[in-house]
Amino acid sequence: MAKCRLCGRVSPFISAAIGYCADCIRGNFSDIEGELAALHRDGRQREGLPPEVPKAPEGKGCRICGNRCSIPPGGRGFCGVYENRGGRLQPVSGSWRRAFVHWYYDPLPTNCCAAWVCPGCSSSGYPRFSYSRGPEYGYKNLAVFYSACNFDCLFCQNWSYRQGVGEGGLEVKDLARAVDEGVSCICYFGGDPTPQVVHAILTSREVLERNRGRVLRICWETNGGVSPPLLRQMADLSLRSGGCIKVDLKCWSEEMSLALSGVSNRQSKENFKRLAELHRQRPDPPFLIASTLLVPGYIDVEEVRAIAHFIASLDPSIPWTLLAFHPDFRMRDLPATPRSQALECLEVAKAEGVQNLHLGNVHLLW
Ligand code: SF4
Ligand code: SF4
Repeated sequence: MAKCRLCGRVSPFISAAIGYCADCIRGNFSDIEGELAALHRDGRQREGLPPEVPKAPEGKGCRICGNRCSIPPGGRGFCGVYENRGGRLQPVSGSWRRAFVHWYYDPLPTNCCAAWVCPGCSSSGYPRFSYSRGPEYGYKNLAVFYSACNFDCLFCQNWSYRQGVGEGGLEVKDLARAVDEGVSCICYFGGDPTPQVVHAILTSREVLERNRGRVLRICWETNGGVSPPLLRQMADLSLRSGGCIKVDLKCWSEEMSLALSGVSNRQSKENFKRLAELHRQRPDPPFLIASTLLVPGYIDVEEVRAIAHFIASLDPSIPWTLLAFHPDFRMRDLPATPRSQALECLEVAKAEGVQNLHLGNVHLLW
């Protein structure tokens, strides 16, 4: 239970870490944006992460994601993965072919947020993109966790990535070696694959070349904030391999994105539009899948309605998973998503015209 510092409302769905309710974030953002920016900055500083998106007038530009950092000499970009060394943009790992990443095998079917529609876990895509008419029992997913992110979500459910940028890194060839005959799909996630996407693209090309003639899907789970030319390369790999891009549409309003994730969601929405056009080329198995975490009190019916309207206006057949939230990272004082909120959001999404809806993490609802 916390009190909104602006309107004074008291509610179990206001996080003390943020200190403001959703209505004040959307309606009075200019009054509180400085304080919200400081919240992200201070937290990141304590963890040894670059505190904010650098915009140095004479800095070196990075165009990998929508943050478009301009990094001062000797400084690092927001994700912590790139630095300006002698006026050149250099990966902290020492090479574009080396990334801060770890991997593991995940037996299929997995609990992936696209499992209900993907070739690895359902009947879609058989026989061209799947080994089996149903879930691919006996096969496995190569789960590739990139330890960096271009967002700073206070509700992050995978925040272990924040300790990830250190020494060394894994070479493309060493990650590619993990693809054995039992692997039928690769999922790049994290953190987010965006900052180190060049490494993932190089790995994908290498493994697809080496595994020509057999099913091997390339999939991504991302906030969608990558730059359009790199997005196109990610999309091409997924389109031809039968894989998918899972875009986390975290919220609709830019103010909510700045408050909860510390950065704008404009690039993510523009990219989603681009991907929706490609989705029409390959709706089965679905190429594009959306997901949204129902953070109580913040990702409310108003946010969900606007996202639903957006998806339905692009292509109502795009699958969309609404995910129940569990208290984590800086928003541990919130409860899990109430069942009533999840059901109301589903109804609203349906009413807006989205046809392919799913509720995930239902065991968390109360
Ligand atoms: S990848 Fe994004 S966050 Fe990282 S340095 Fe480049 S522009 Fe900044
Ligand atoms: S990685 Fe792709 S194919 Fe494999 S389980 Fe996830 S969505 Fe399905």
